[in-house]
Amino acid sequence: MINDKVVIITGASSGIGEATAKLLASKGAKLALGARREDQLKQIVEEIEKDGGQAVYQKLDVTEPSNNTAIVRLAKETYGGVDVIFLNAGIMPNSPLSALKTDDWHQTVDVNVNGVLNGVAAVLPTFIEQKSGHIVATSSVAGLKAYPGGAVYGGTKWFVRDFMEVLRMESAMEGTNIRTATIYPAAIGTELLGTISDKDTAEQMGSVYDTYQISAHRIASVVAIAIDQPEDTTINEFTVGPANQPW
Ligand code: NDP
Repeated sequence: MINDKVVIITGASSGIGEATAKLLASKGAKLALGARREDQLKQIVEEIEKDGGQAVYQKLDVTEPSNNTAIVRLAKETYGGVDVIFLNAGIMPNSPLSALKTDDWHQTVDVNVNGVLNGVAAVLPTFIEQKSGHIVATSSVAGLKAYPGGAVYGGTKWFVRDFMEVLRMESAMEGTNIRTATIYPAAIGTELLGTISDKDTAEQMGSVYDTYQISAHRIASVVAIAIDQPEDTTINEFTVGPANQPW
């Protein structure tokens, strides 16, 4: 059941996070939305409320541990608990390694890896105490297959896969009833390509996306399926991409 579930979404200001927020709100979830762009979040919350949904927002930089604990606190203070966290914030500033865009490398690790760690660290004490909770994370097809230009991004998404799998196993072993789901999207039409600073890579990926991209709503519906499962059931891994993808 999604109705009445309290769901935190990171990276909720655009793309997959925004689409998921709107879909879950329409199904009766109570949302706490986080990202760095407050103006975007404010507008999304207003749209959700106008459609009869419930949502609050908070400025969140996932690389800051205190921001992550703050949004968990916001959800608990507003709604009385947390049922689900969707760790979705991410960047993809792809480039060939030879371009030595080391600032991009480190920022990618900070957002895509440390952001996930910070989110989990913030919510885990609550989930362990209540002996329930659902952690959903956005990896990528780049977390399953290597491709040139995506060494660092892909590495961060392979990390998400490994981390979520161990989290699932340890939660089962420890009897904490924490469920996990990892989503592996491919070519979703969002603002993600805007994070690429390397001109050639941006052009190459832009043309791939122009050919293949599908809507962020497709990922939202898959997140909803994962959350909608009964408490005794977990669907761990979803790959979701264009039906005609050759990769
Ligand atoms: P968008 O760029 O539209 O969304 C990314 C979101 O992450 C934004 O809300 C952005 O908000 C947020 N974000 C970025 N940095 C931070 C930060 N430091 N702290 C908090 N929030 C941050 O792209 P998508 O919707 O596509 O991306 C969502 C996830 O999906 C990412 O993890 C991405 O890697 C993954 N993904 C996307 C694919 C695609 O083809 N689009 C394919 C595979 C995976 P703000 O800038 O306001 O902080």
